[in-house]
Amino acid sequence: MATAVLPTAEPTTIPRMRVLAPSCARNALTVDVEEYFHAEVFAGEIAQDDWPRLERRAALFLESIGELLARHESRATFFVLGWTVDYLAPLLRHLASQGHEIACHGFDHRHIRRVTPRELRDDLRRAREKIEDRVGVRPRGYRAPTFSITRETAWALDVVIEQGFQYDSSIFPIHHDRYGVPDAPTSPFWAVSPTGGRILEFPPLTLNLGIARIPVGGGGYLRLLPGVVLRRCLAAAERRDQPTLLYVHPWELDPDQPLWPAGILSRWRHTVNLAKTEAKLDRLLQSFRFDTVWRVLSPLRVENDLPTFSLGS
Ligand SMILES: [Zn+2]
Repeated sequence: MATAVLPTAEPTTIPRMRVLAPSCARNALTVDVEEYFHAEVFAGEIAQDDWPRLERRAALFLESIGELLARHESRATFFVLGWTVDYLAPLLRHLASQGHEIACHGFDHRHIRRVTPRELRDDLRRAREKIEDRVGVRPRGYRAPTFSITRETAWALDVVIEQGFQYDSSIFPIHHDRYGVPDAPTSPFWAVSPTGGRILEFPPLTLNLGIARIPVGGGGYLRLLPGVVLRRCLAAAERRDQPTLLYVHPWELDPDQPLWPAGILSRWRHTVNLAKTEAKLDRLLQSFRFDTVWRVLSPLRVENDLPTFSLGS
């Protein structure tokens, strides 16, 4: 399989965005910057040793997302996987110069259930230092691979705090086979670790149907649900003055990515509606103003009236 030519110069295709005044947007858009082969669905199929030999496609779709954001004068937070930083650095520096936030998605995308506290500490330090060295910013936020901070892995919050992060976005307040804390708050809150450590947490958008919470904030859910449903969820949150968070991956804009073996359900989740993601994102950006996680969280942090939720047993 051919390896894509790596970008070596500052990208020029993303239009410059006029400098925006501090916004009062309550919607945060987030992008988990990784390749299609980093997705958890392929964790048992593609060995990490094989990653360097695979075609890298994220740069192209990262540029598309940057163009969409510039066109709609919105900003986003990019949770960057350390493994991608060397070859994406010019693009990431450009995005940072446009007012977007560069945050951290760890280094090698291992589900936290599969690592020890020491391995997580090393992974976060390595990713943070790589972002600081190559992009020139210190990331404030962290998102675990596959939203893998759960009650079982809540010890990870202490490592995130210890590594100097000011907020986390790794807890999905739903039932799911790979992740989730179903009784966690659905708006920003202070997450308390089993040892009493405290960090700001911003969960993805969910829809409460009374008997169940439906995840609507990103990934396969965002690709599957009709755009009108998503827009109604965001409009309802706006009426309640509730901050929201959506997430997307560069590979979700790439219907032509190579297909690897995976279970039927997993493959369907990974590929459903990939060809429609960009248009759906475009329409959402037309209808709502989005900003970075830090800009949405900052006023809430100052007001300090956020709920507290303990992940201790
Ligand atoms: Zn990821």
